[in-house]
Parts: sequence; C-alpha cells; structure tokens
Amino acid sequence: MLRKLFSALIVYPAVIILFILHFTAERKNIAGLTAAAGPGEFPTIEESLPDVTRTERVLMAGTPEETLLYIIEAEEEGPVVLVIGGIHGNEPAGSRAAETITTWAIDRGCLLVIPRANVRALSARARCAPGAGDLNRAFPGSSSGNSCQQLARSIYSVMKEFRPQWVIDLHEAREFEQLASGALGQTIIYPRTSGSLDLINQVVEAVNSGEKFSKYPFILRRGAIGGGTIKAATLLGLDGFMVETCLRQPLELRVKQHLRAVAVFMELTGVTVH
Ligand SMILES: [Zn+2]
Repeated sequence: MLRKLFSALIVYPAVIILFILHFTAERKNIAGLTAAAGPGEFPTIEESLPDVTRTERVLMAGTPEETLLYIIEAEEEGPVVLVIGGIHGNEPAGSRAAETITTWAIDRGCLLVIPRANVRALSARARCAPGAGDLNRAFPGSSSGNSCQQLARSIYSVMKEFRPQWVIDLHEAREFEQLASGALGQTIIYPRTSGSLDLINQVVEAVNSGEKFSKYPFILRRGAIGGGTIKAATLLGLDGFMVETCLRQPLELRVKQHLRAVAVFMELTGVTVH
C-alpha cells in the first residue's frame, strides 16, 4: 500500500517532470544553435536553402593556368559580388576560404567565385607561378602577353562581363600591420576611389566584434596596389576591397577570418548566406 502511494505521489510525477525538462532542454539547444549562427558562423542543423543556379566556367581553358569560375545565382535580384582567392600561391587561407564560398547558397543576387586564381603558384606554394611574374601586379593584363598577363586578363574579363558591384580579393601577409607598418597583416584595404567607406568600416567592426580571433584586430588601410585586382576593378568603375590575414596565425583561424569577412559583408549588403 505504502509502495503504491509512493509511486503515485513521487515516482510518476518525477518521471513526467523529467520528461518535460528533457524535451525543453532539447528545444533550447536547437534554438541556441540557430540564434548563435551570426554572420560568418553557420548553423549545424539543416535548414531549407534558397534555390540557386550553380554554373561553372573554365578560365584559361587548355592551358596550365586553367581554373574555374563558379557562378551562384539567386532567383531574386541583388548585388553581384566577385570573390577571388589564390592570387598568390603561398597564401593558402584565401584560396581555402574561397573554395568553401563556392558551396554557399544566397537568397539574393549573384556570387562569383574564383577560388584558385593562380593554380600553378598554389601547386608550387610560391607567391608566383614558376617562371611567371606577380599576378597581383599584372592587371588588367593582356590577352597577347605572357601567361601571367593572360591570366590577369582572363580574370579582368570576368569583371568586365559581370560588372560586380564588389570585388573581394583574399590575401595573406607575413606580419601584423600593427607590429610593422606596411606589412598589412590583419587589414582590410579599400581603394581611394571607394564610395563605400561606411560599409567597409562596418565590415571591419563586425569582423572584430564577434569571437576574438587574435590579439590584433583588423584595421583599415586605404589604397590599391597598381596592377592588382582591386585597382583593376576601379578601372571599370567597380568597388572592392582586399582582406589580408596574417600568416603568423594558424591556417584554420585565417580561413575562418576570411569567411567571416565575406559573410558579414554579404549580410551588410542585404544578402543572407546559407
Ligand atoms: Zn597576396
């Protein structure tokens, strides 16, 4: 009798309460995951992705410089953004981040990605392809020039054809800018002609305000390297910026920094990245 009373008053209600608590905790976890997925961080649970059209185009087809351009188009109109990685072969984080970006889905606009711009330099893990000049000094390039100039021309032609409002070029530097002026590590560099300083400032702020990546936050630098991608973009009246991480940090961290910079930029232009 006592045992029955014990079961009725204590055990059964306890089991019900535990069940409710467990269920609530599970729901909270899921909500927490979704809420924590801010710019540059991605939810680990499945969600419905927006419909995008994915196409690939071969640049420099049939040559040792052959590389892919990925075109990700959303149904809804929006900004066109070109992301370039791997211009310099000894700066792997930008290329790895851009490879990840080729898998993104967007709800508006068009995302163009060239993740391995300089394949021969990447294979050689060298700044320049063997026997070739610096690709980031060769823009806008020439279709009748050497292989480096032809490659530059081919990427420049993508800018000309699609006219992205933004060109984002992902690079790496040896030293932190804050330790050695001009070294450019941990900077975002925008051209003098840019009319979007406010937006770029917000990118820097957002990149620095999340998870603390480094004791040296990103800082803003103004200018565009002659012969570089961003200078080339300005020749076409396009805007853009370079992200320079610092090689003194672990590779995974640098990849994350690049991804966050591009993701927060996209979100600031009104594009949701999945
Ligand atoms: Zn570089």
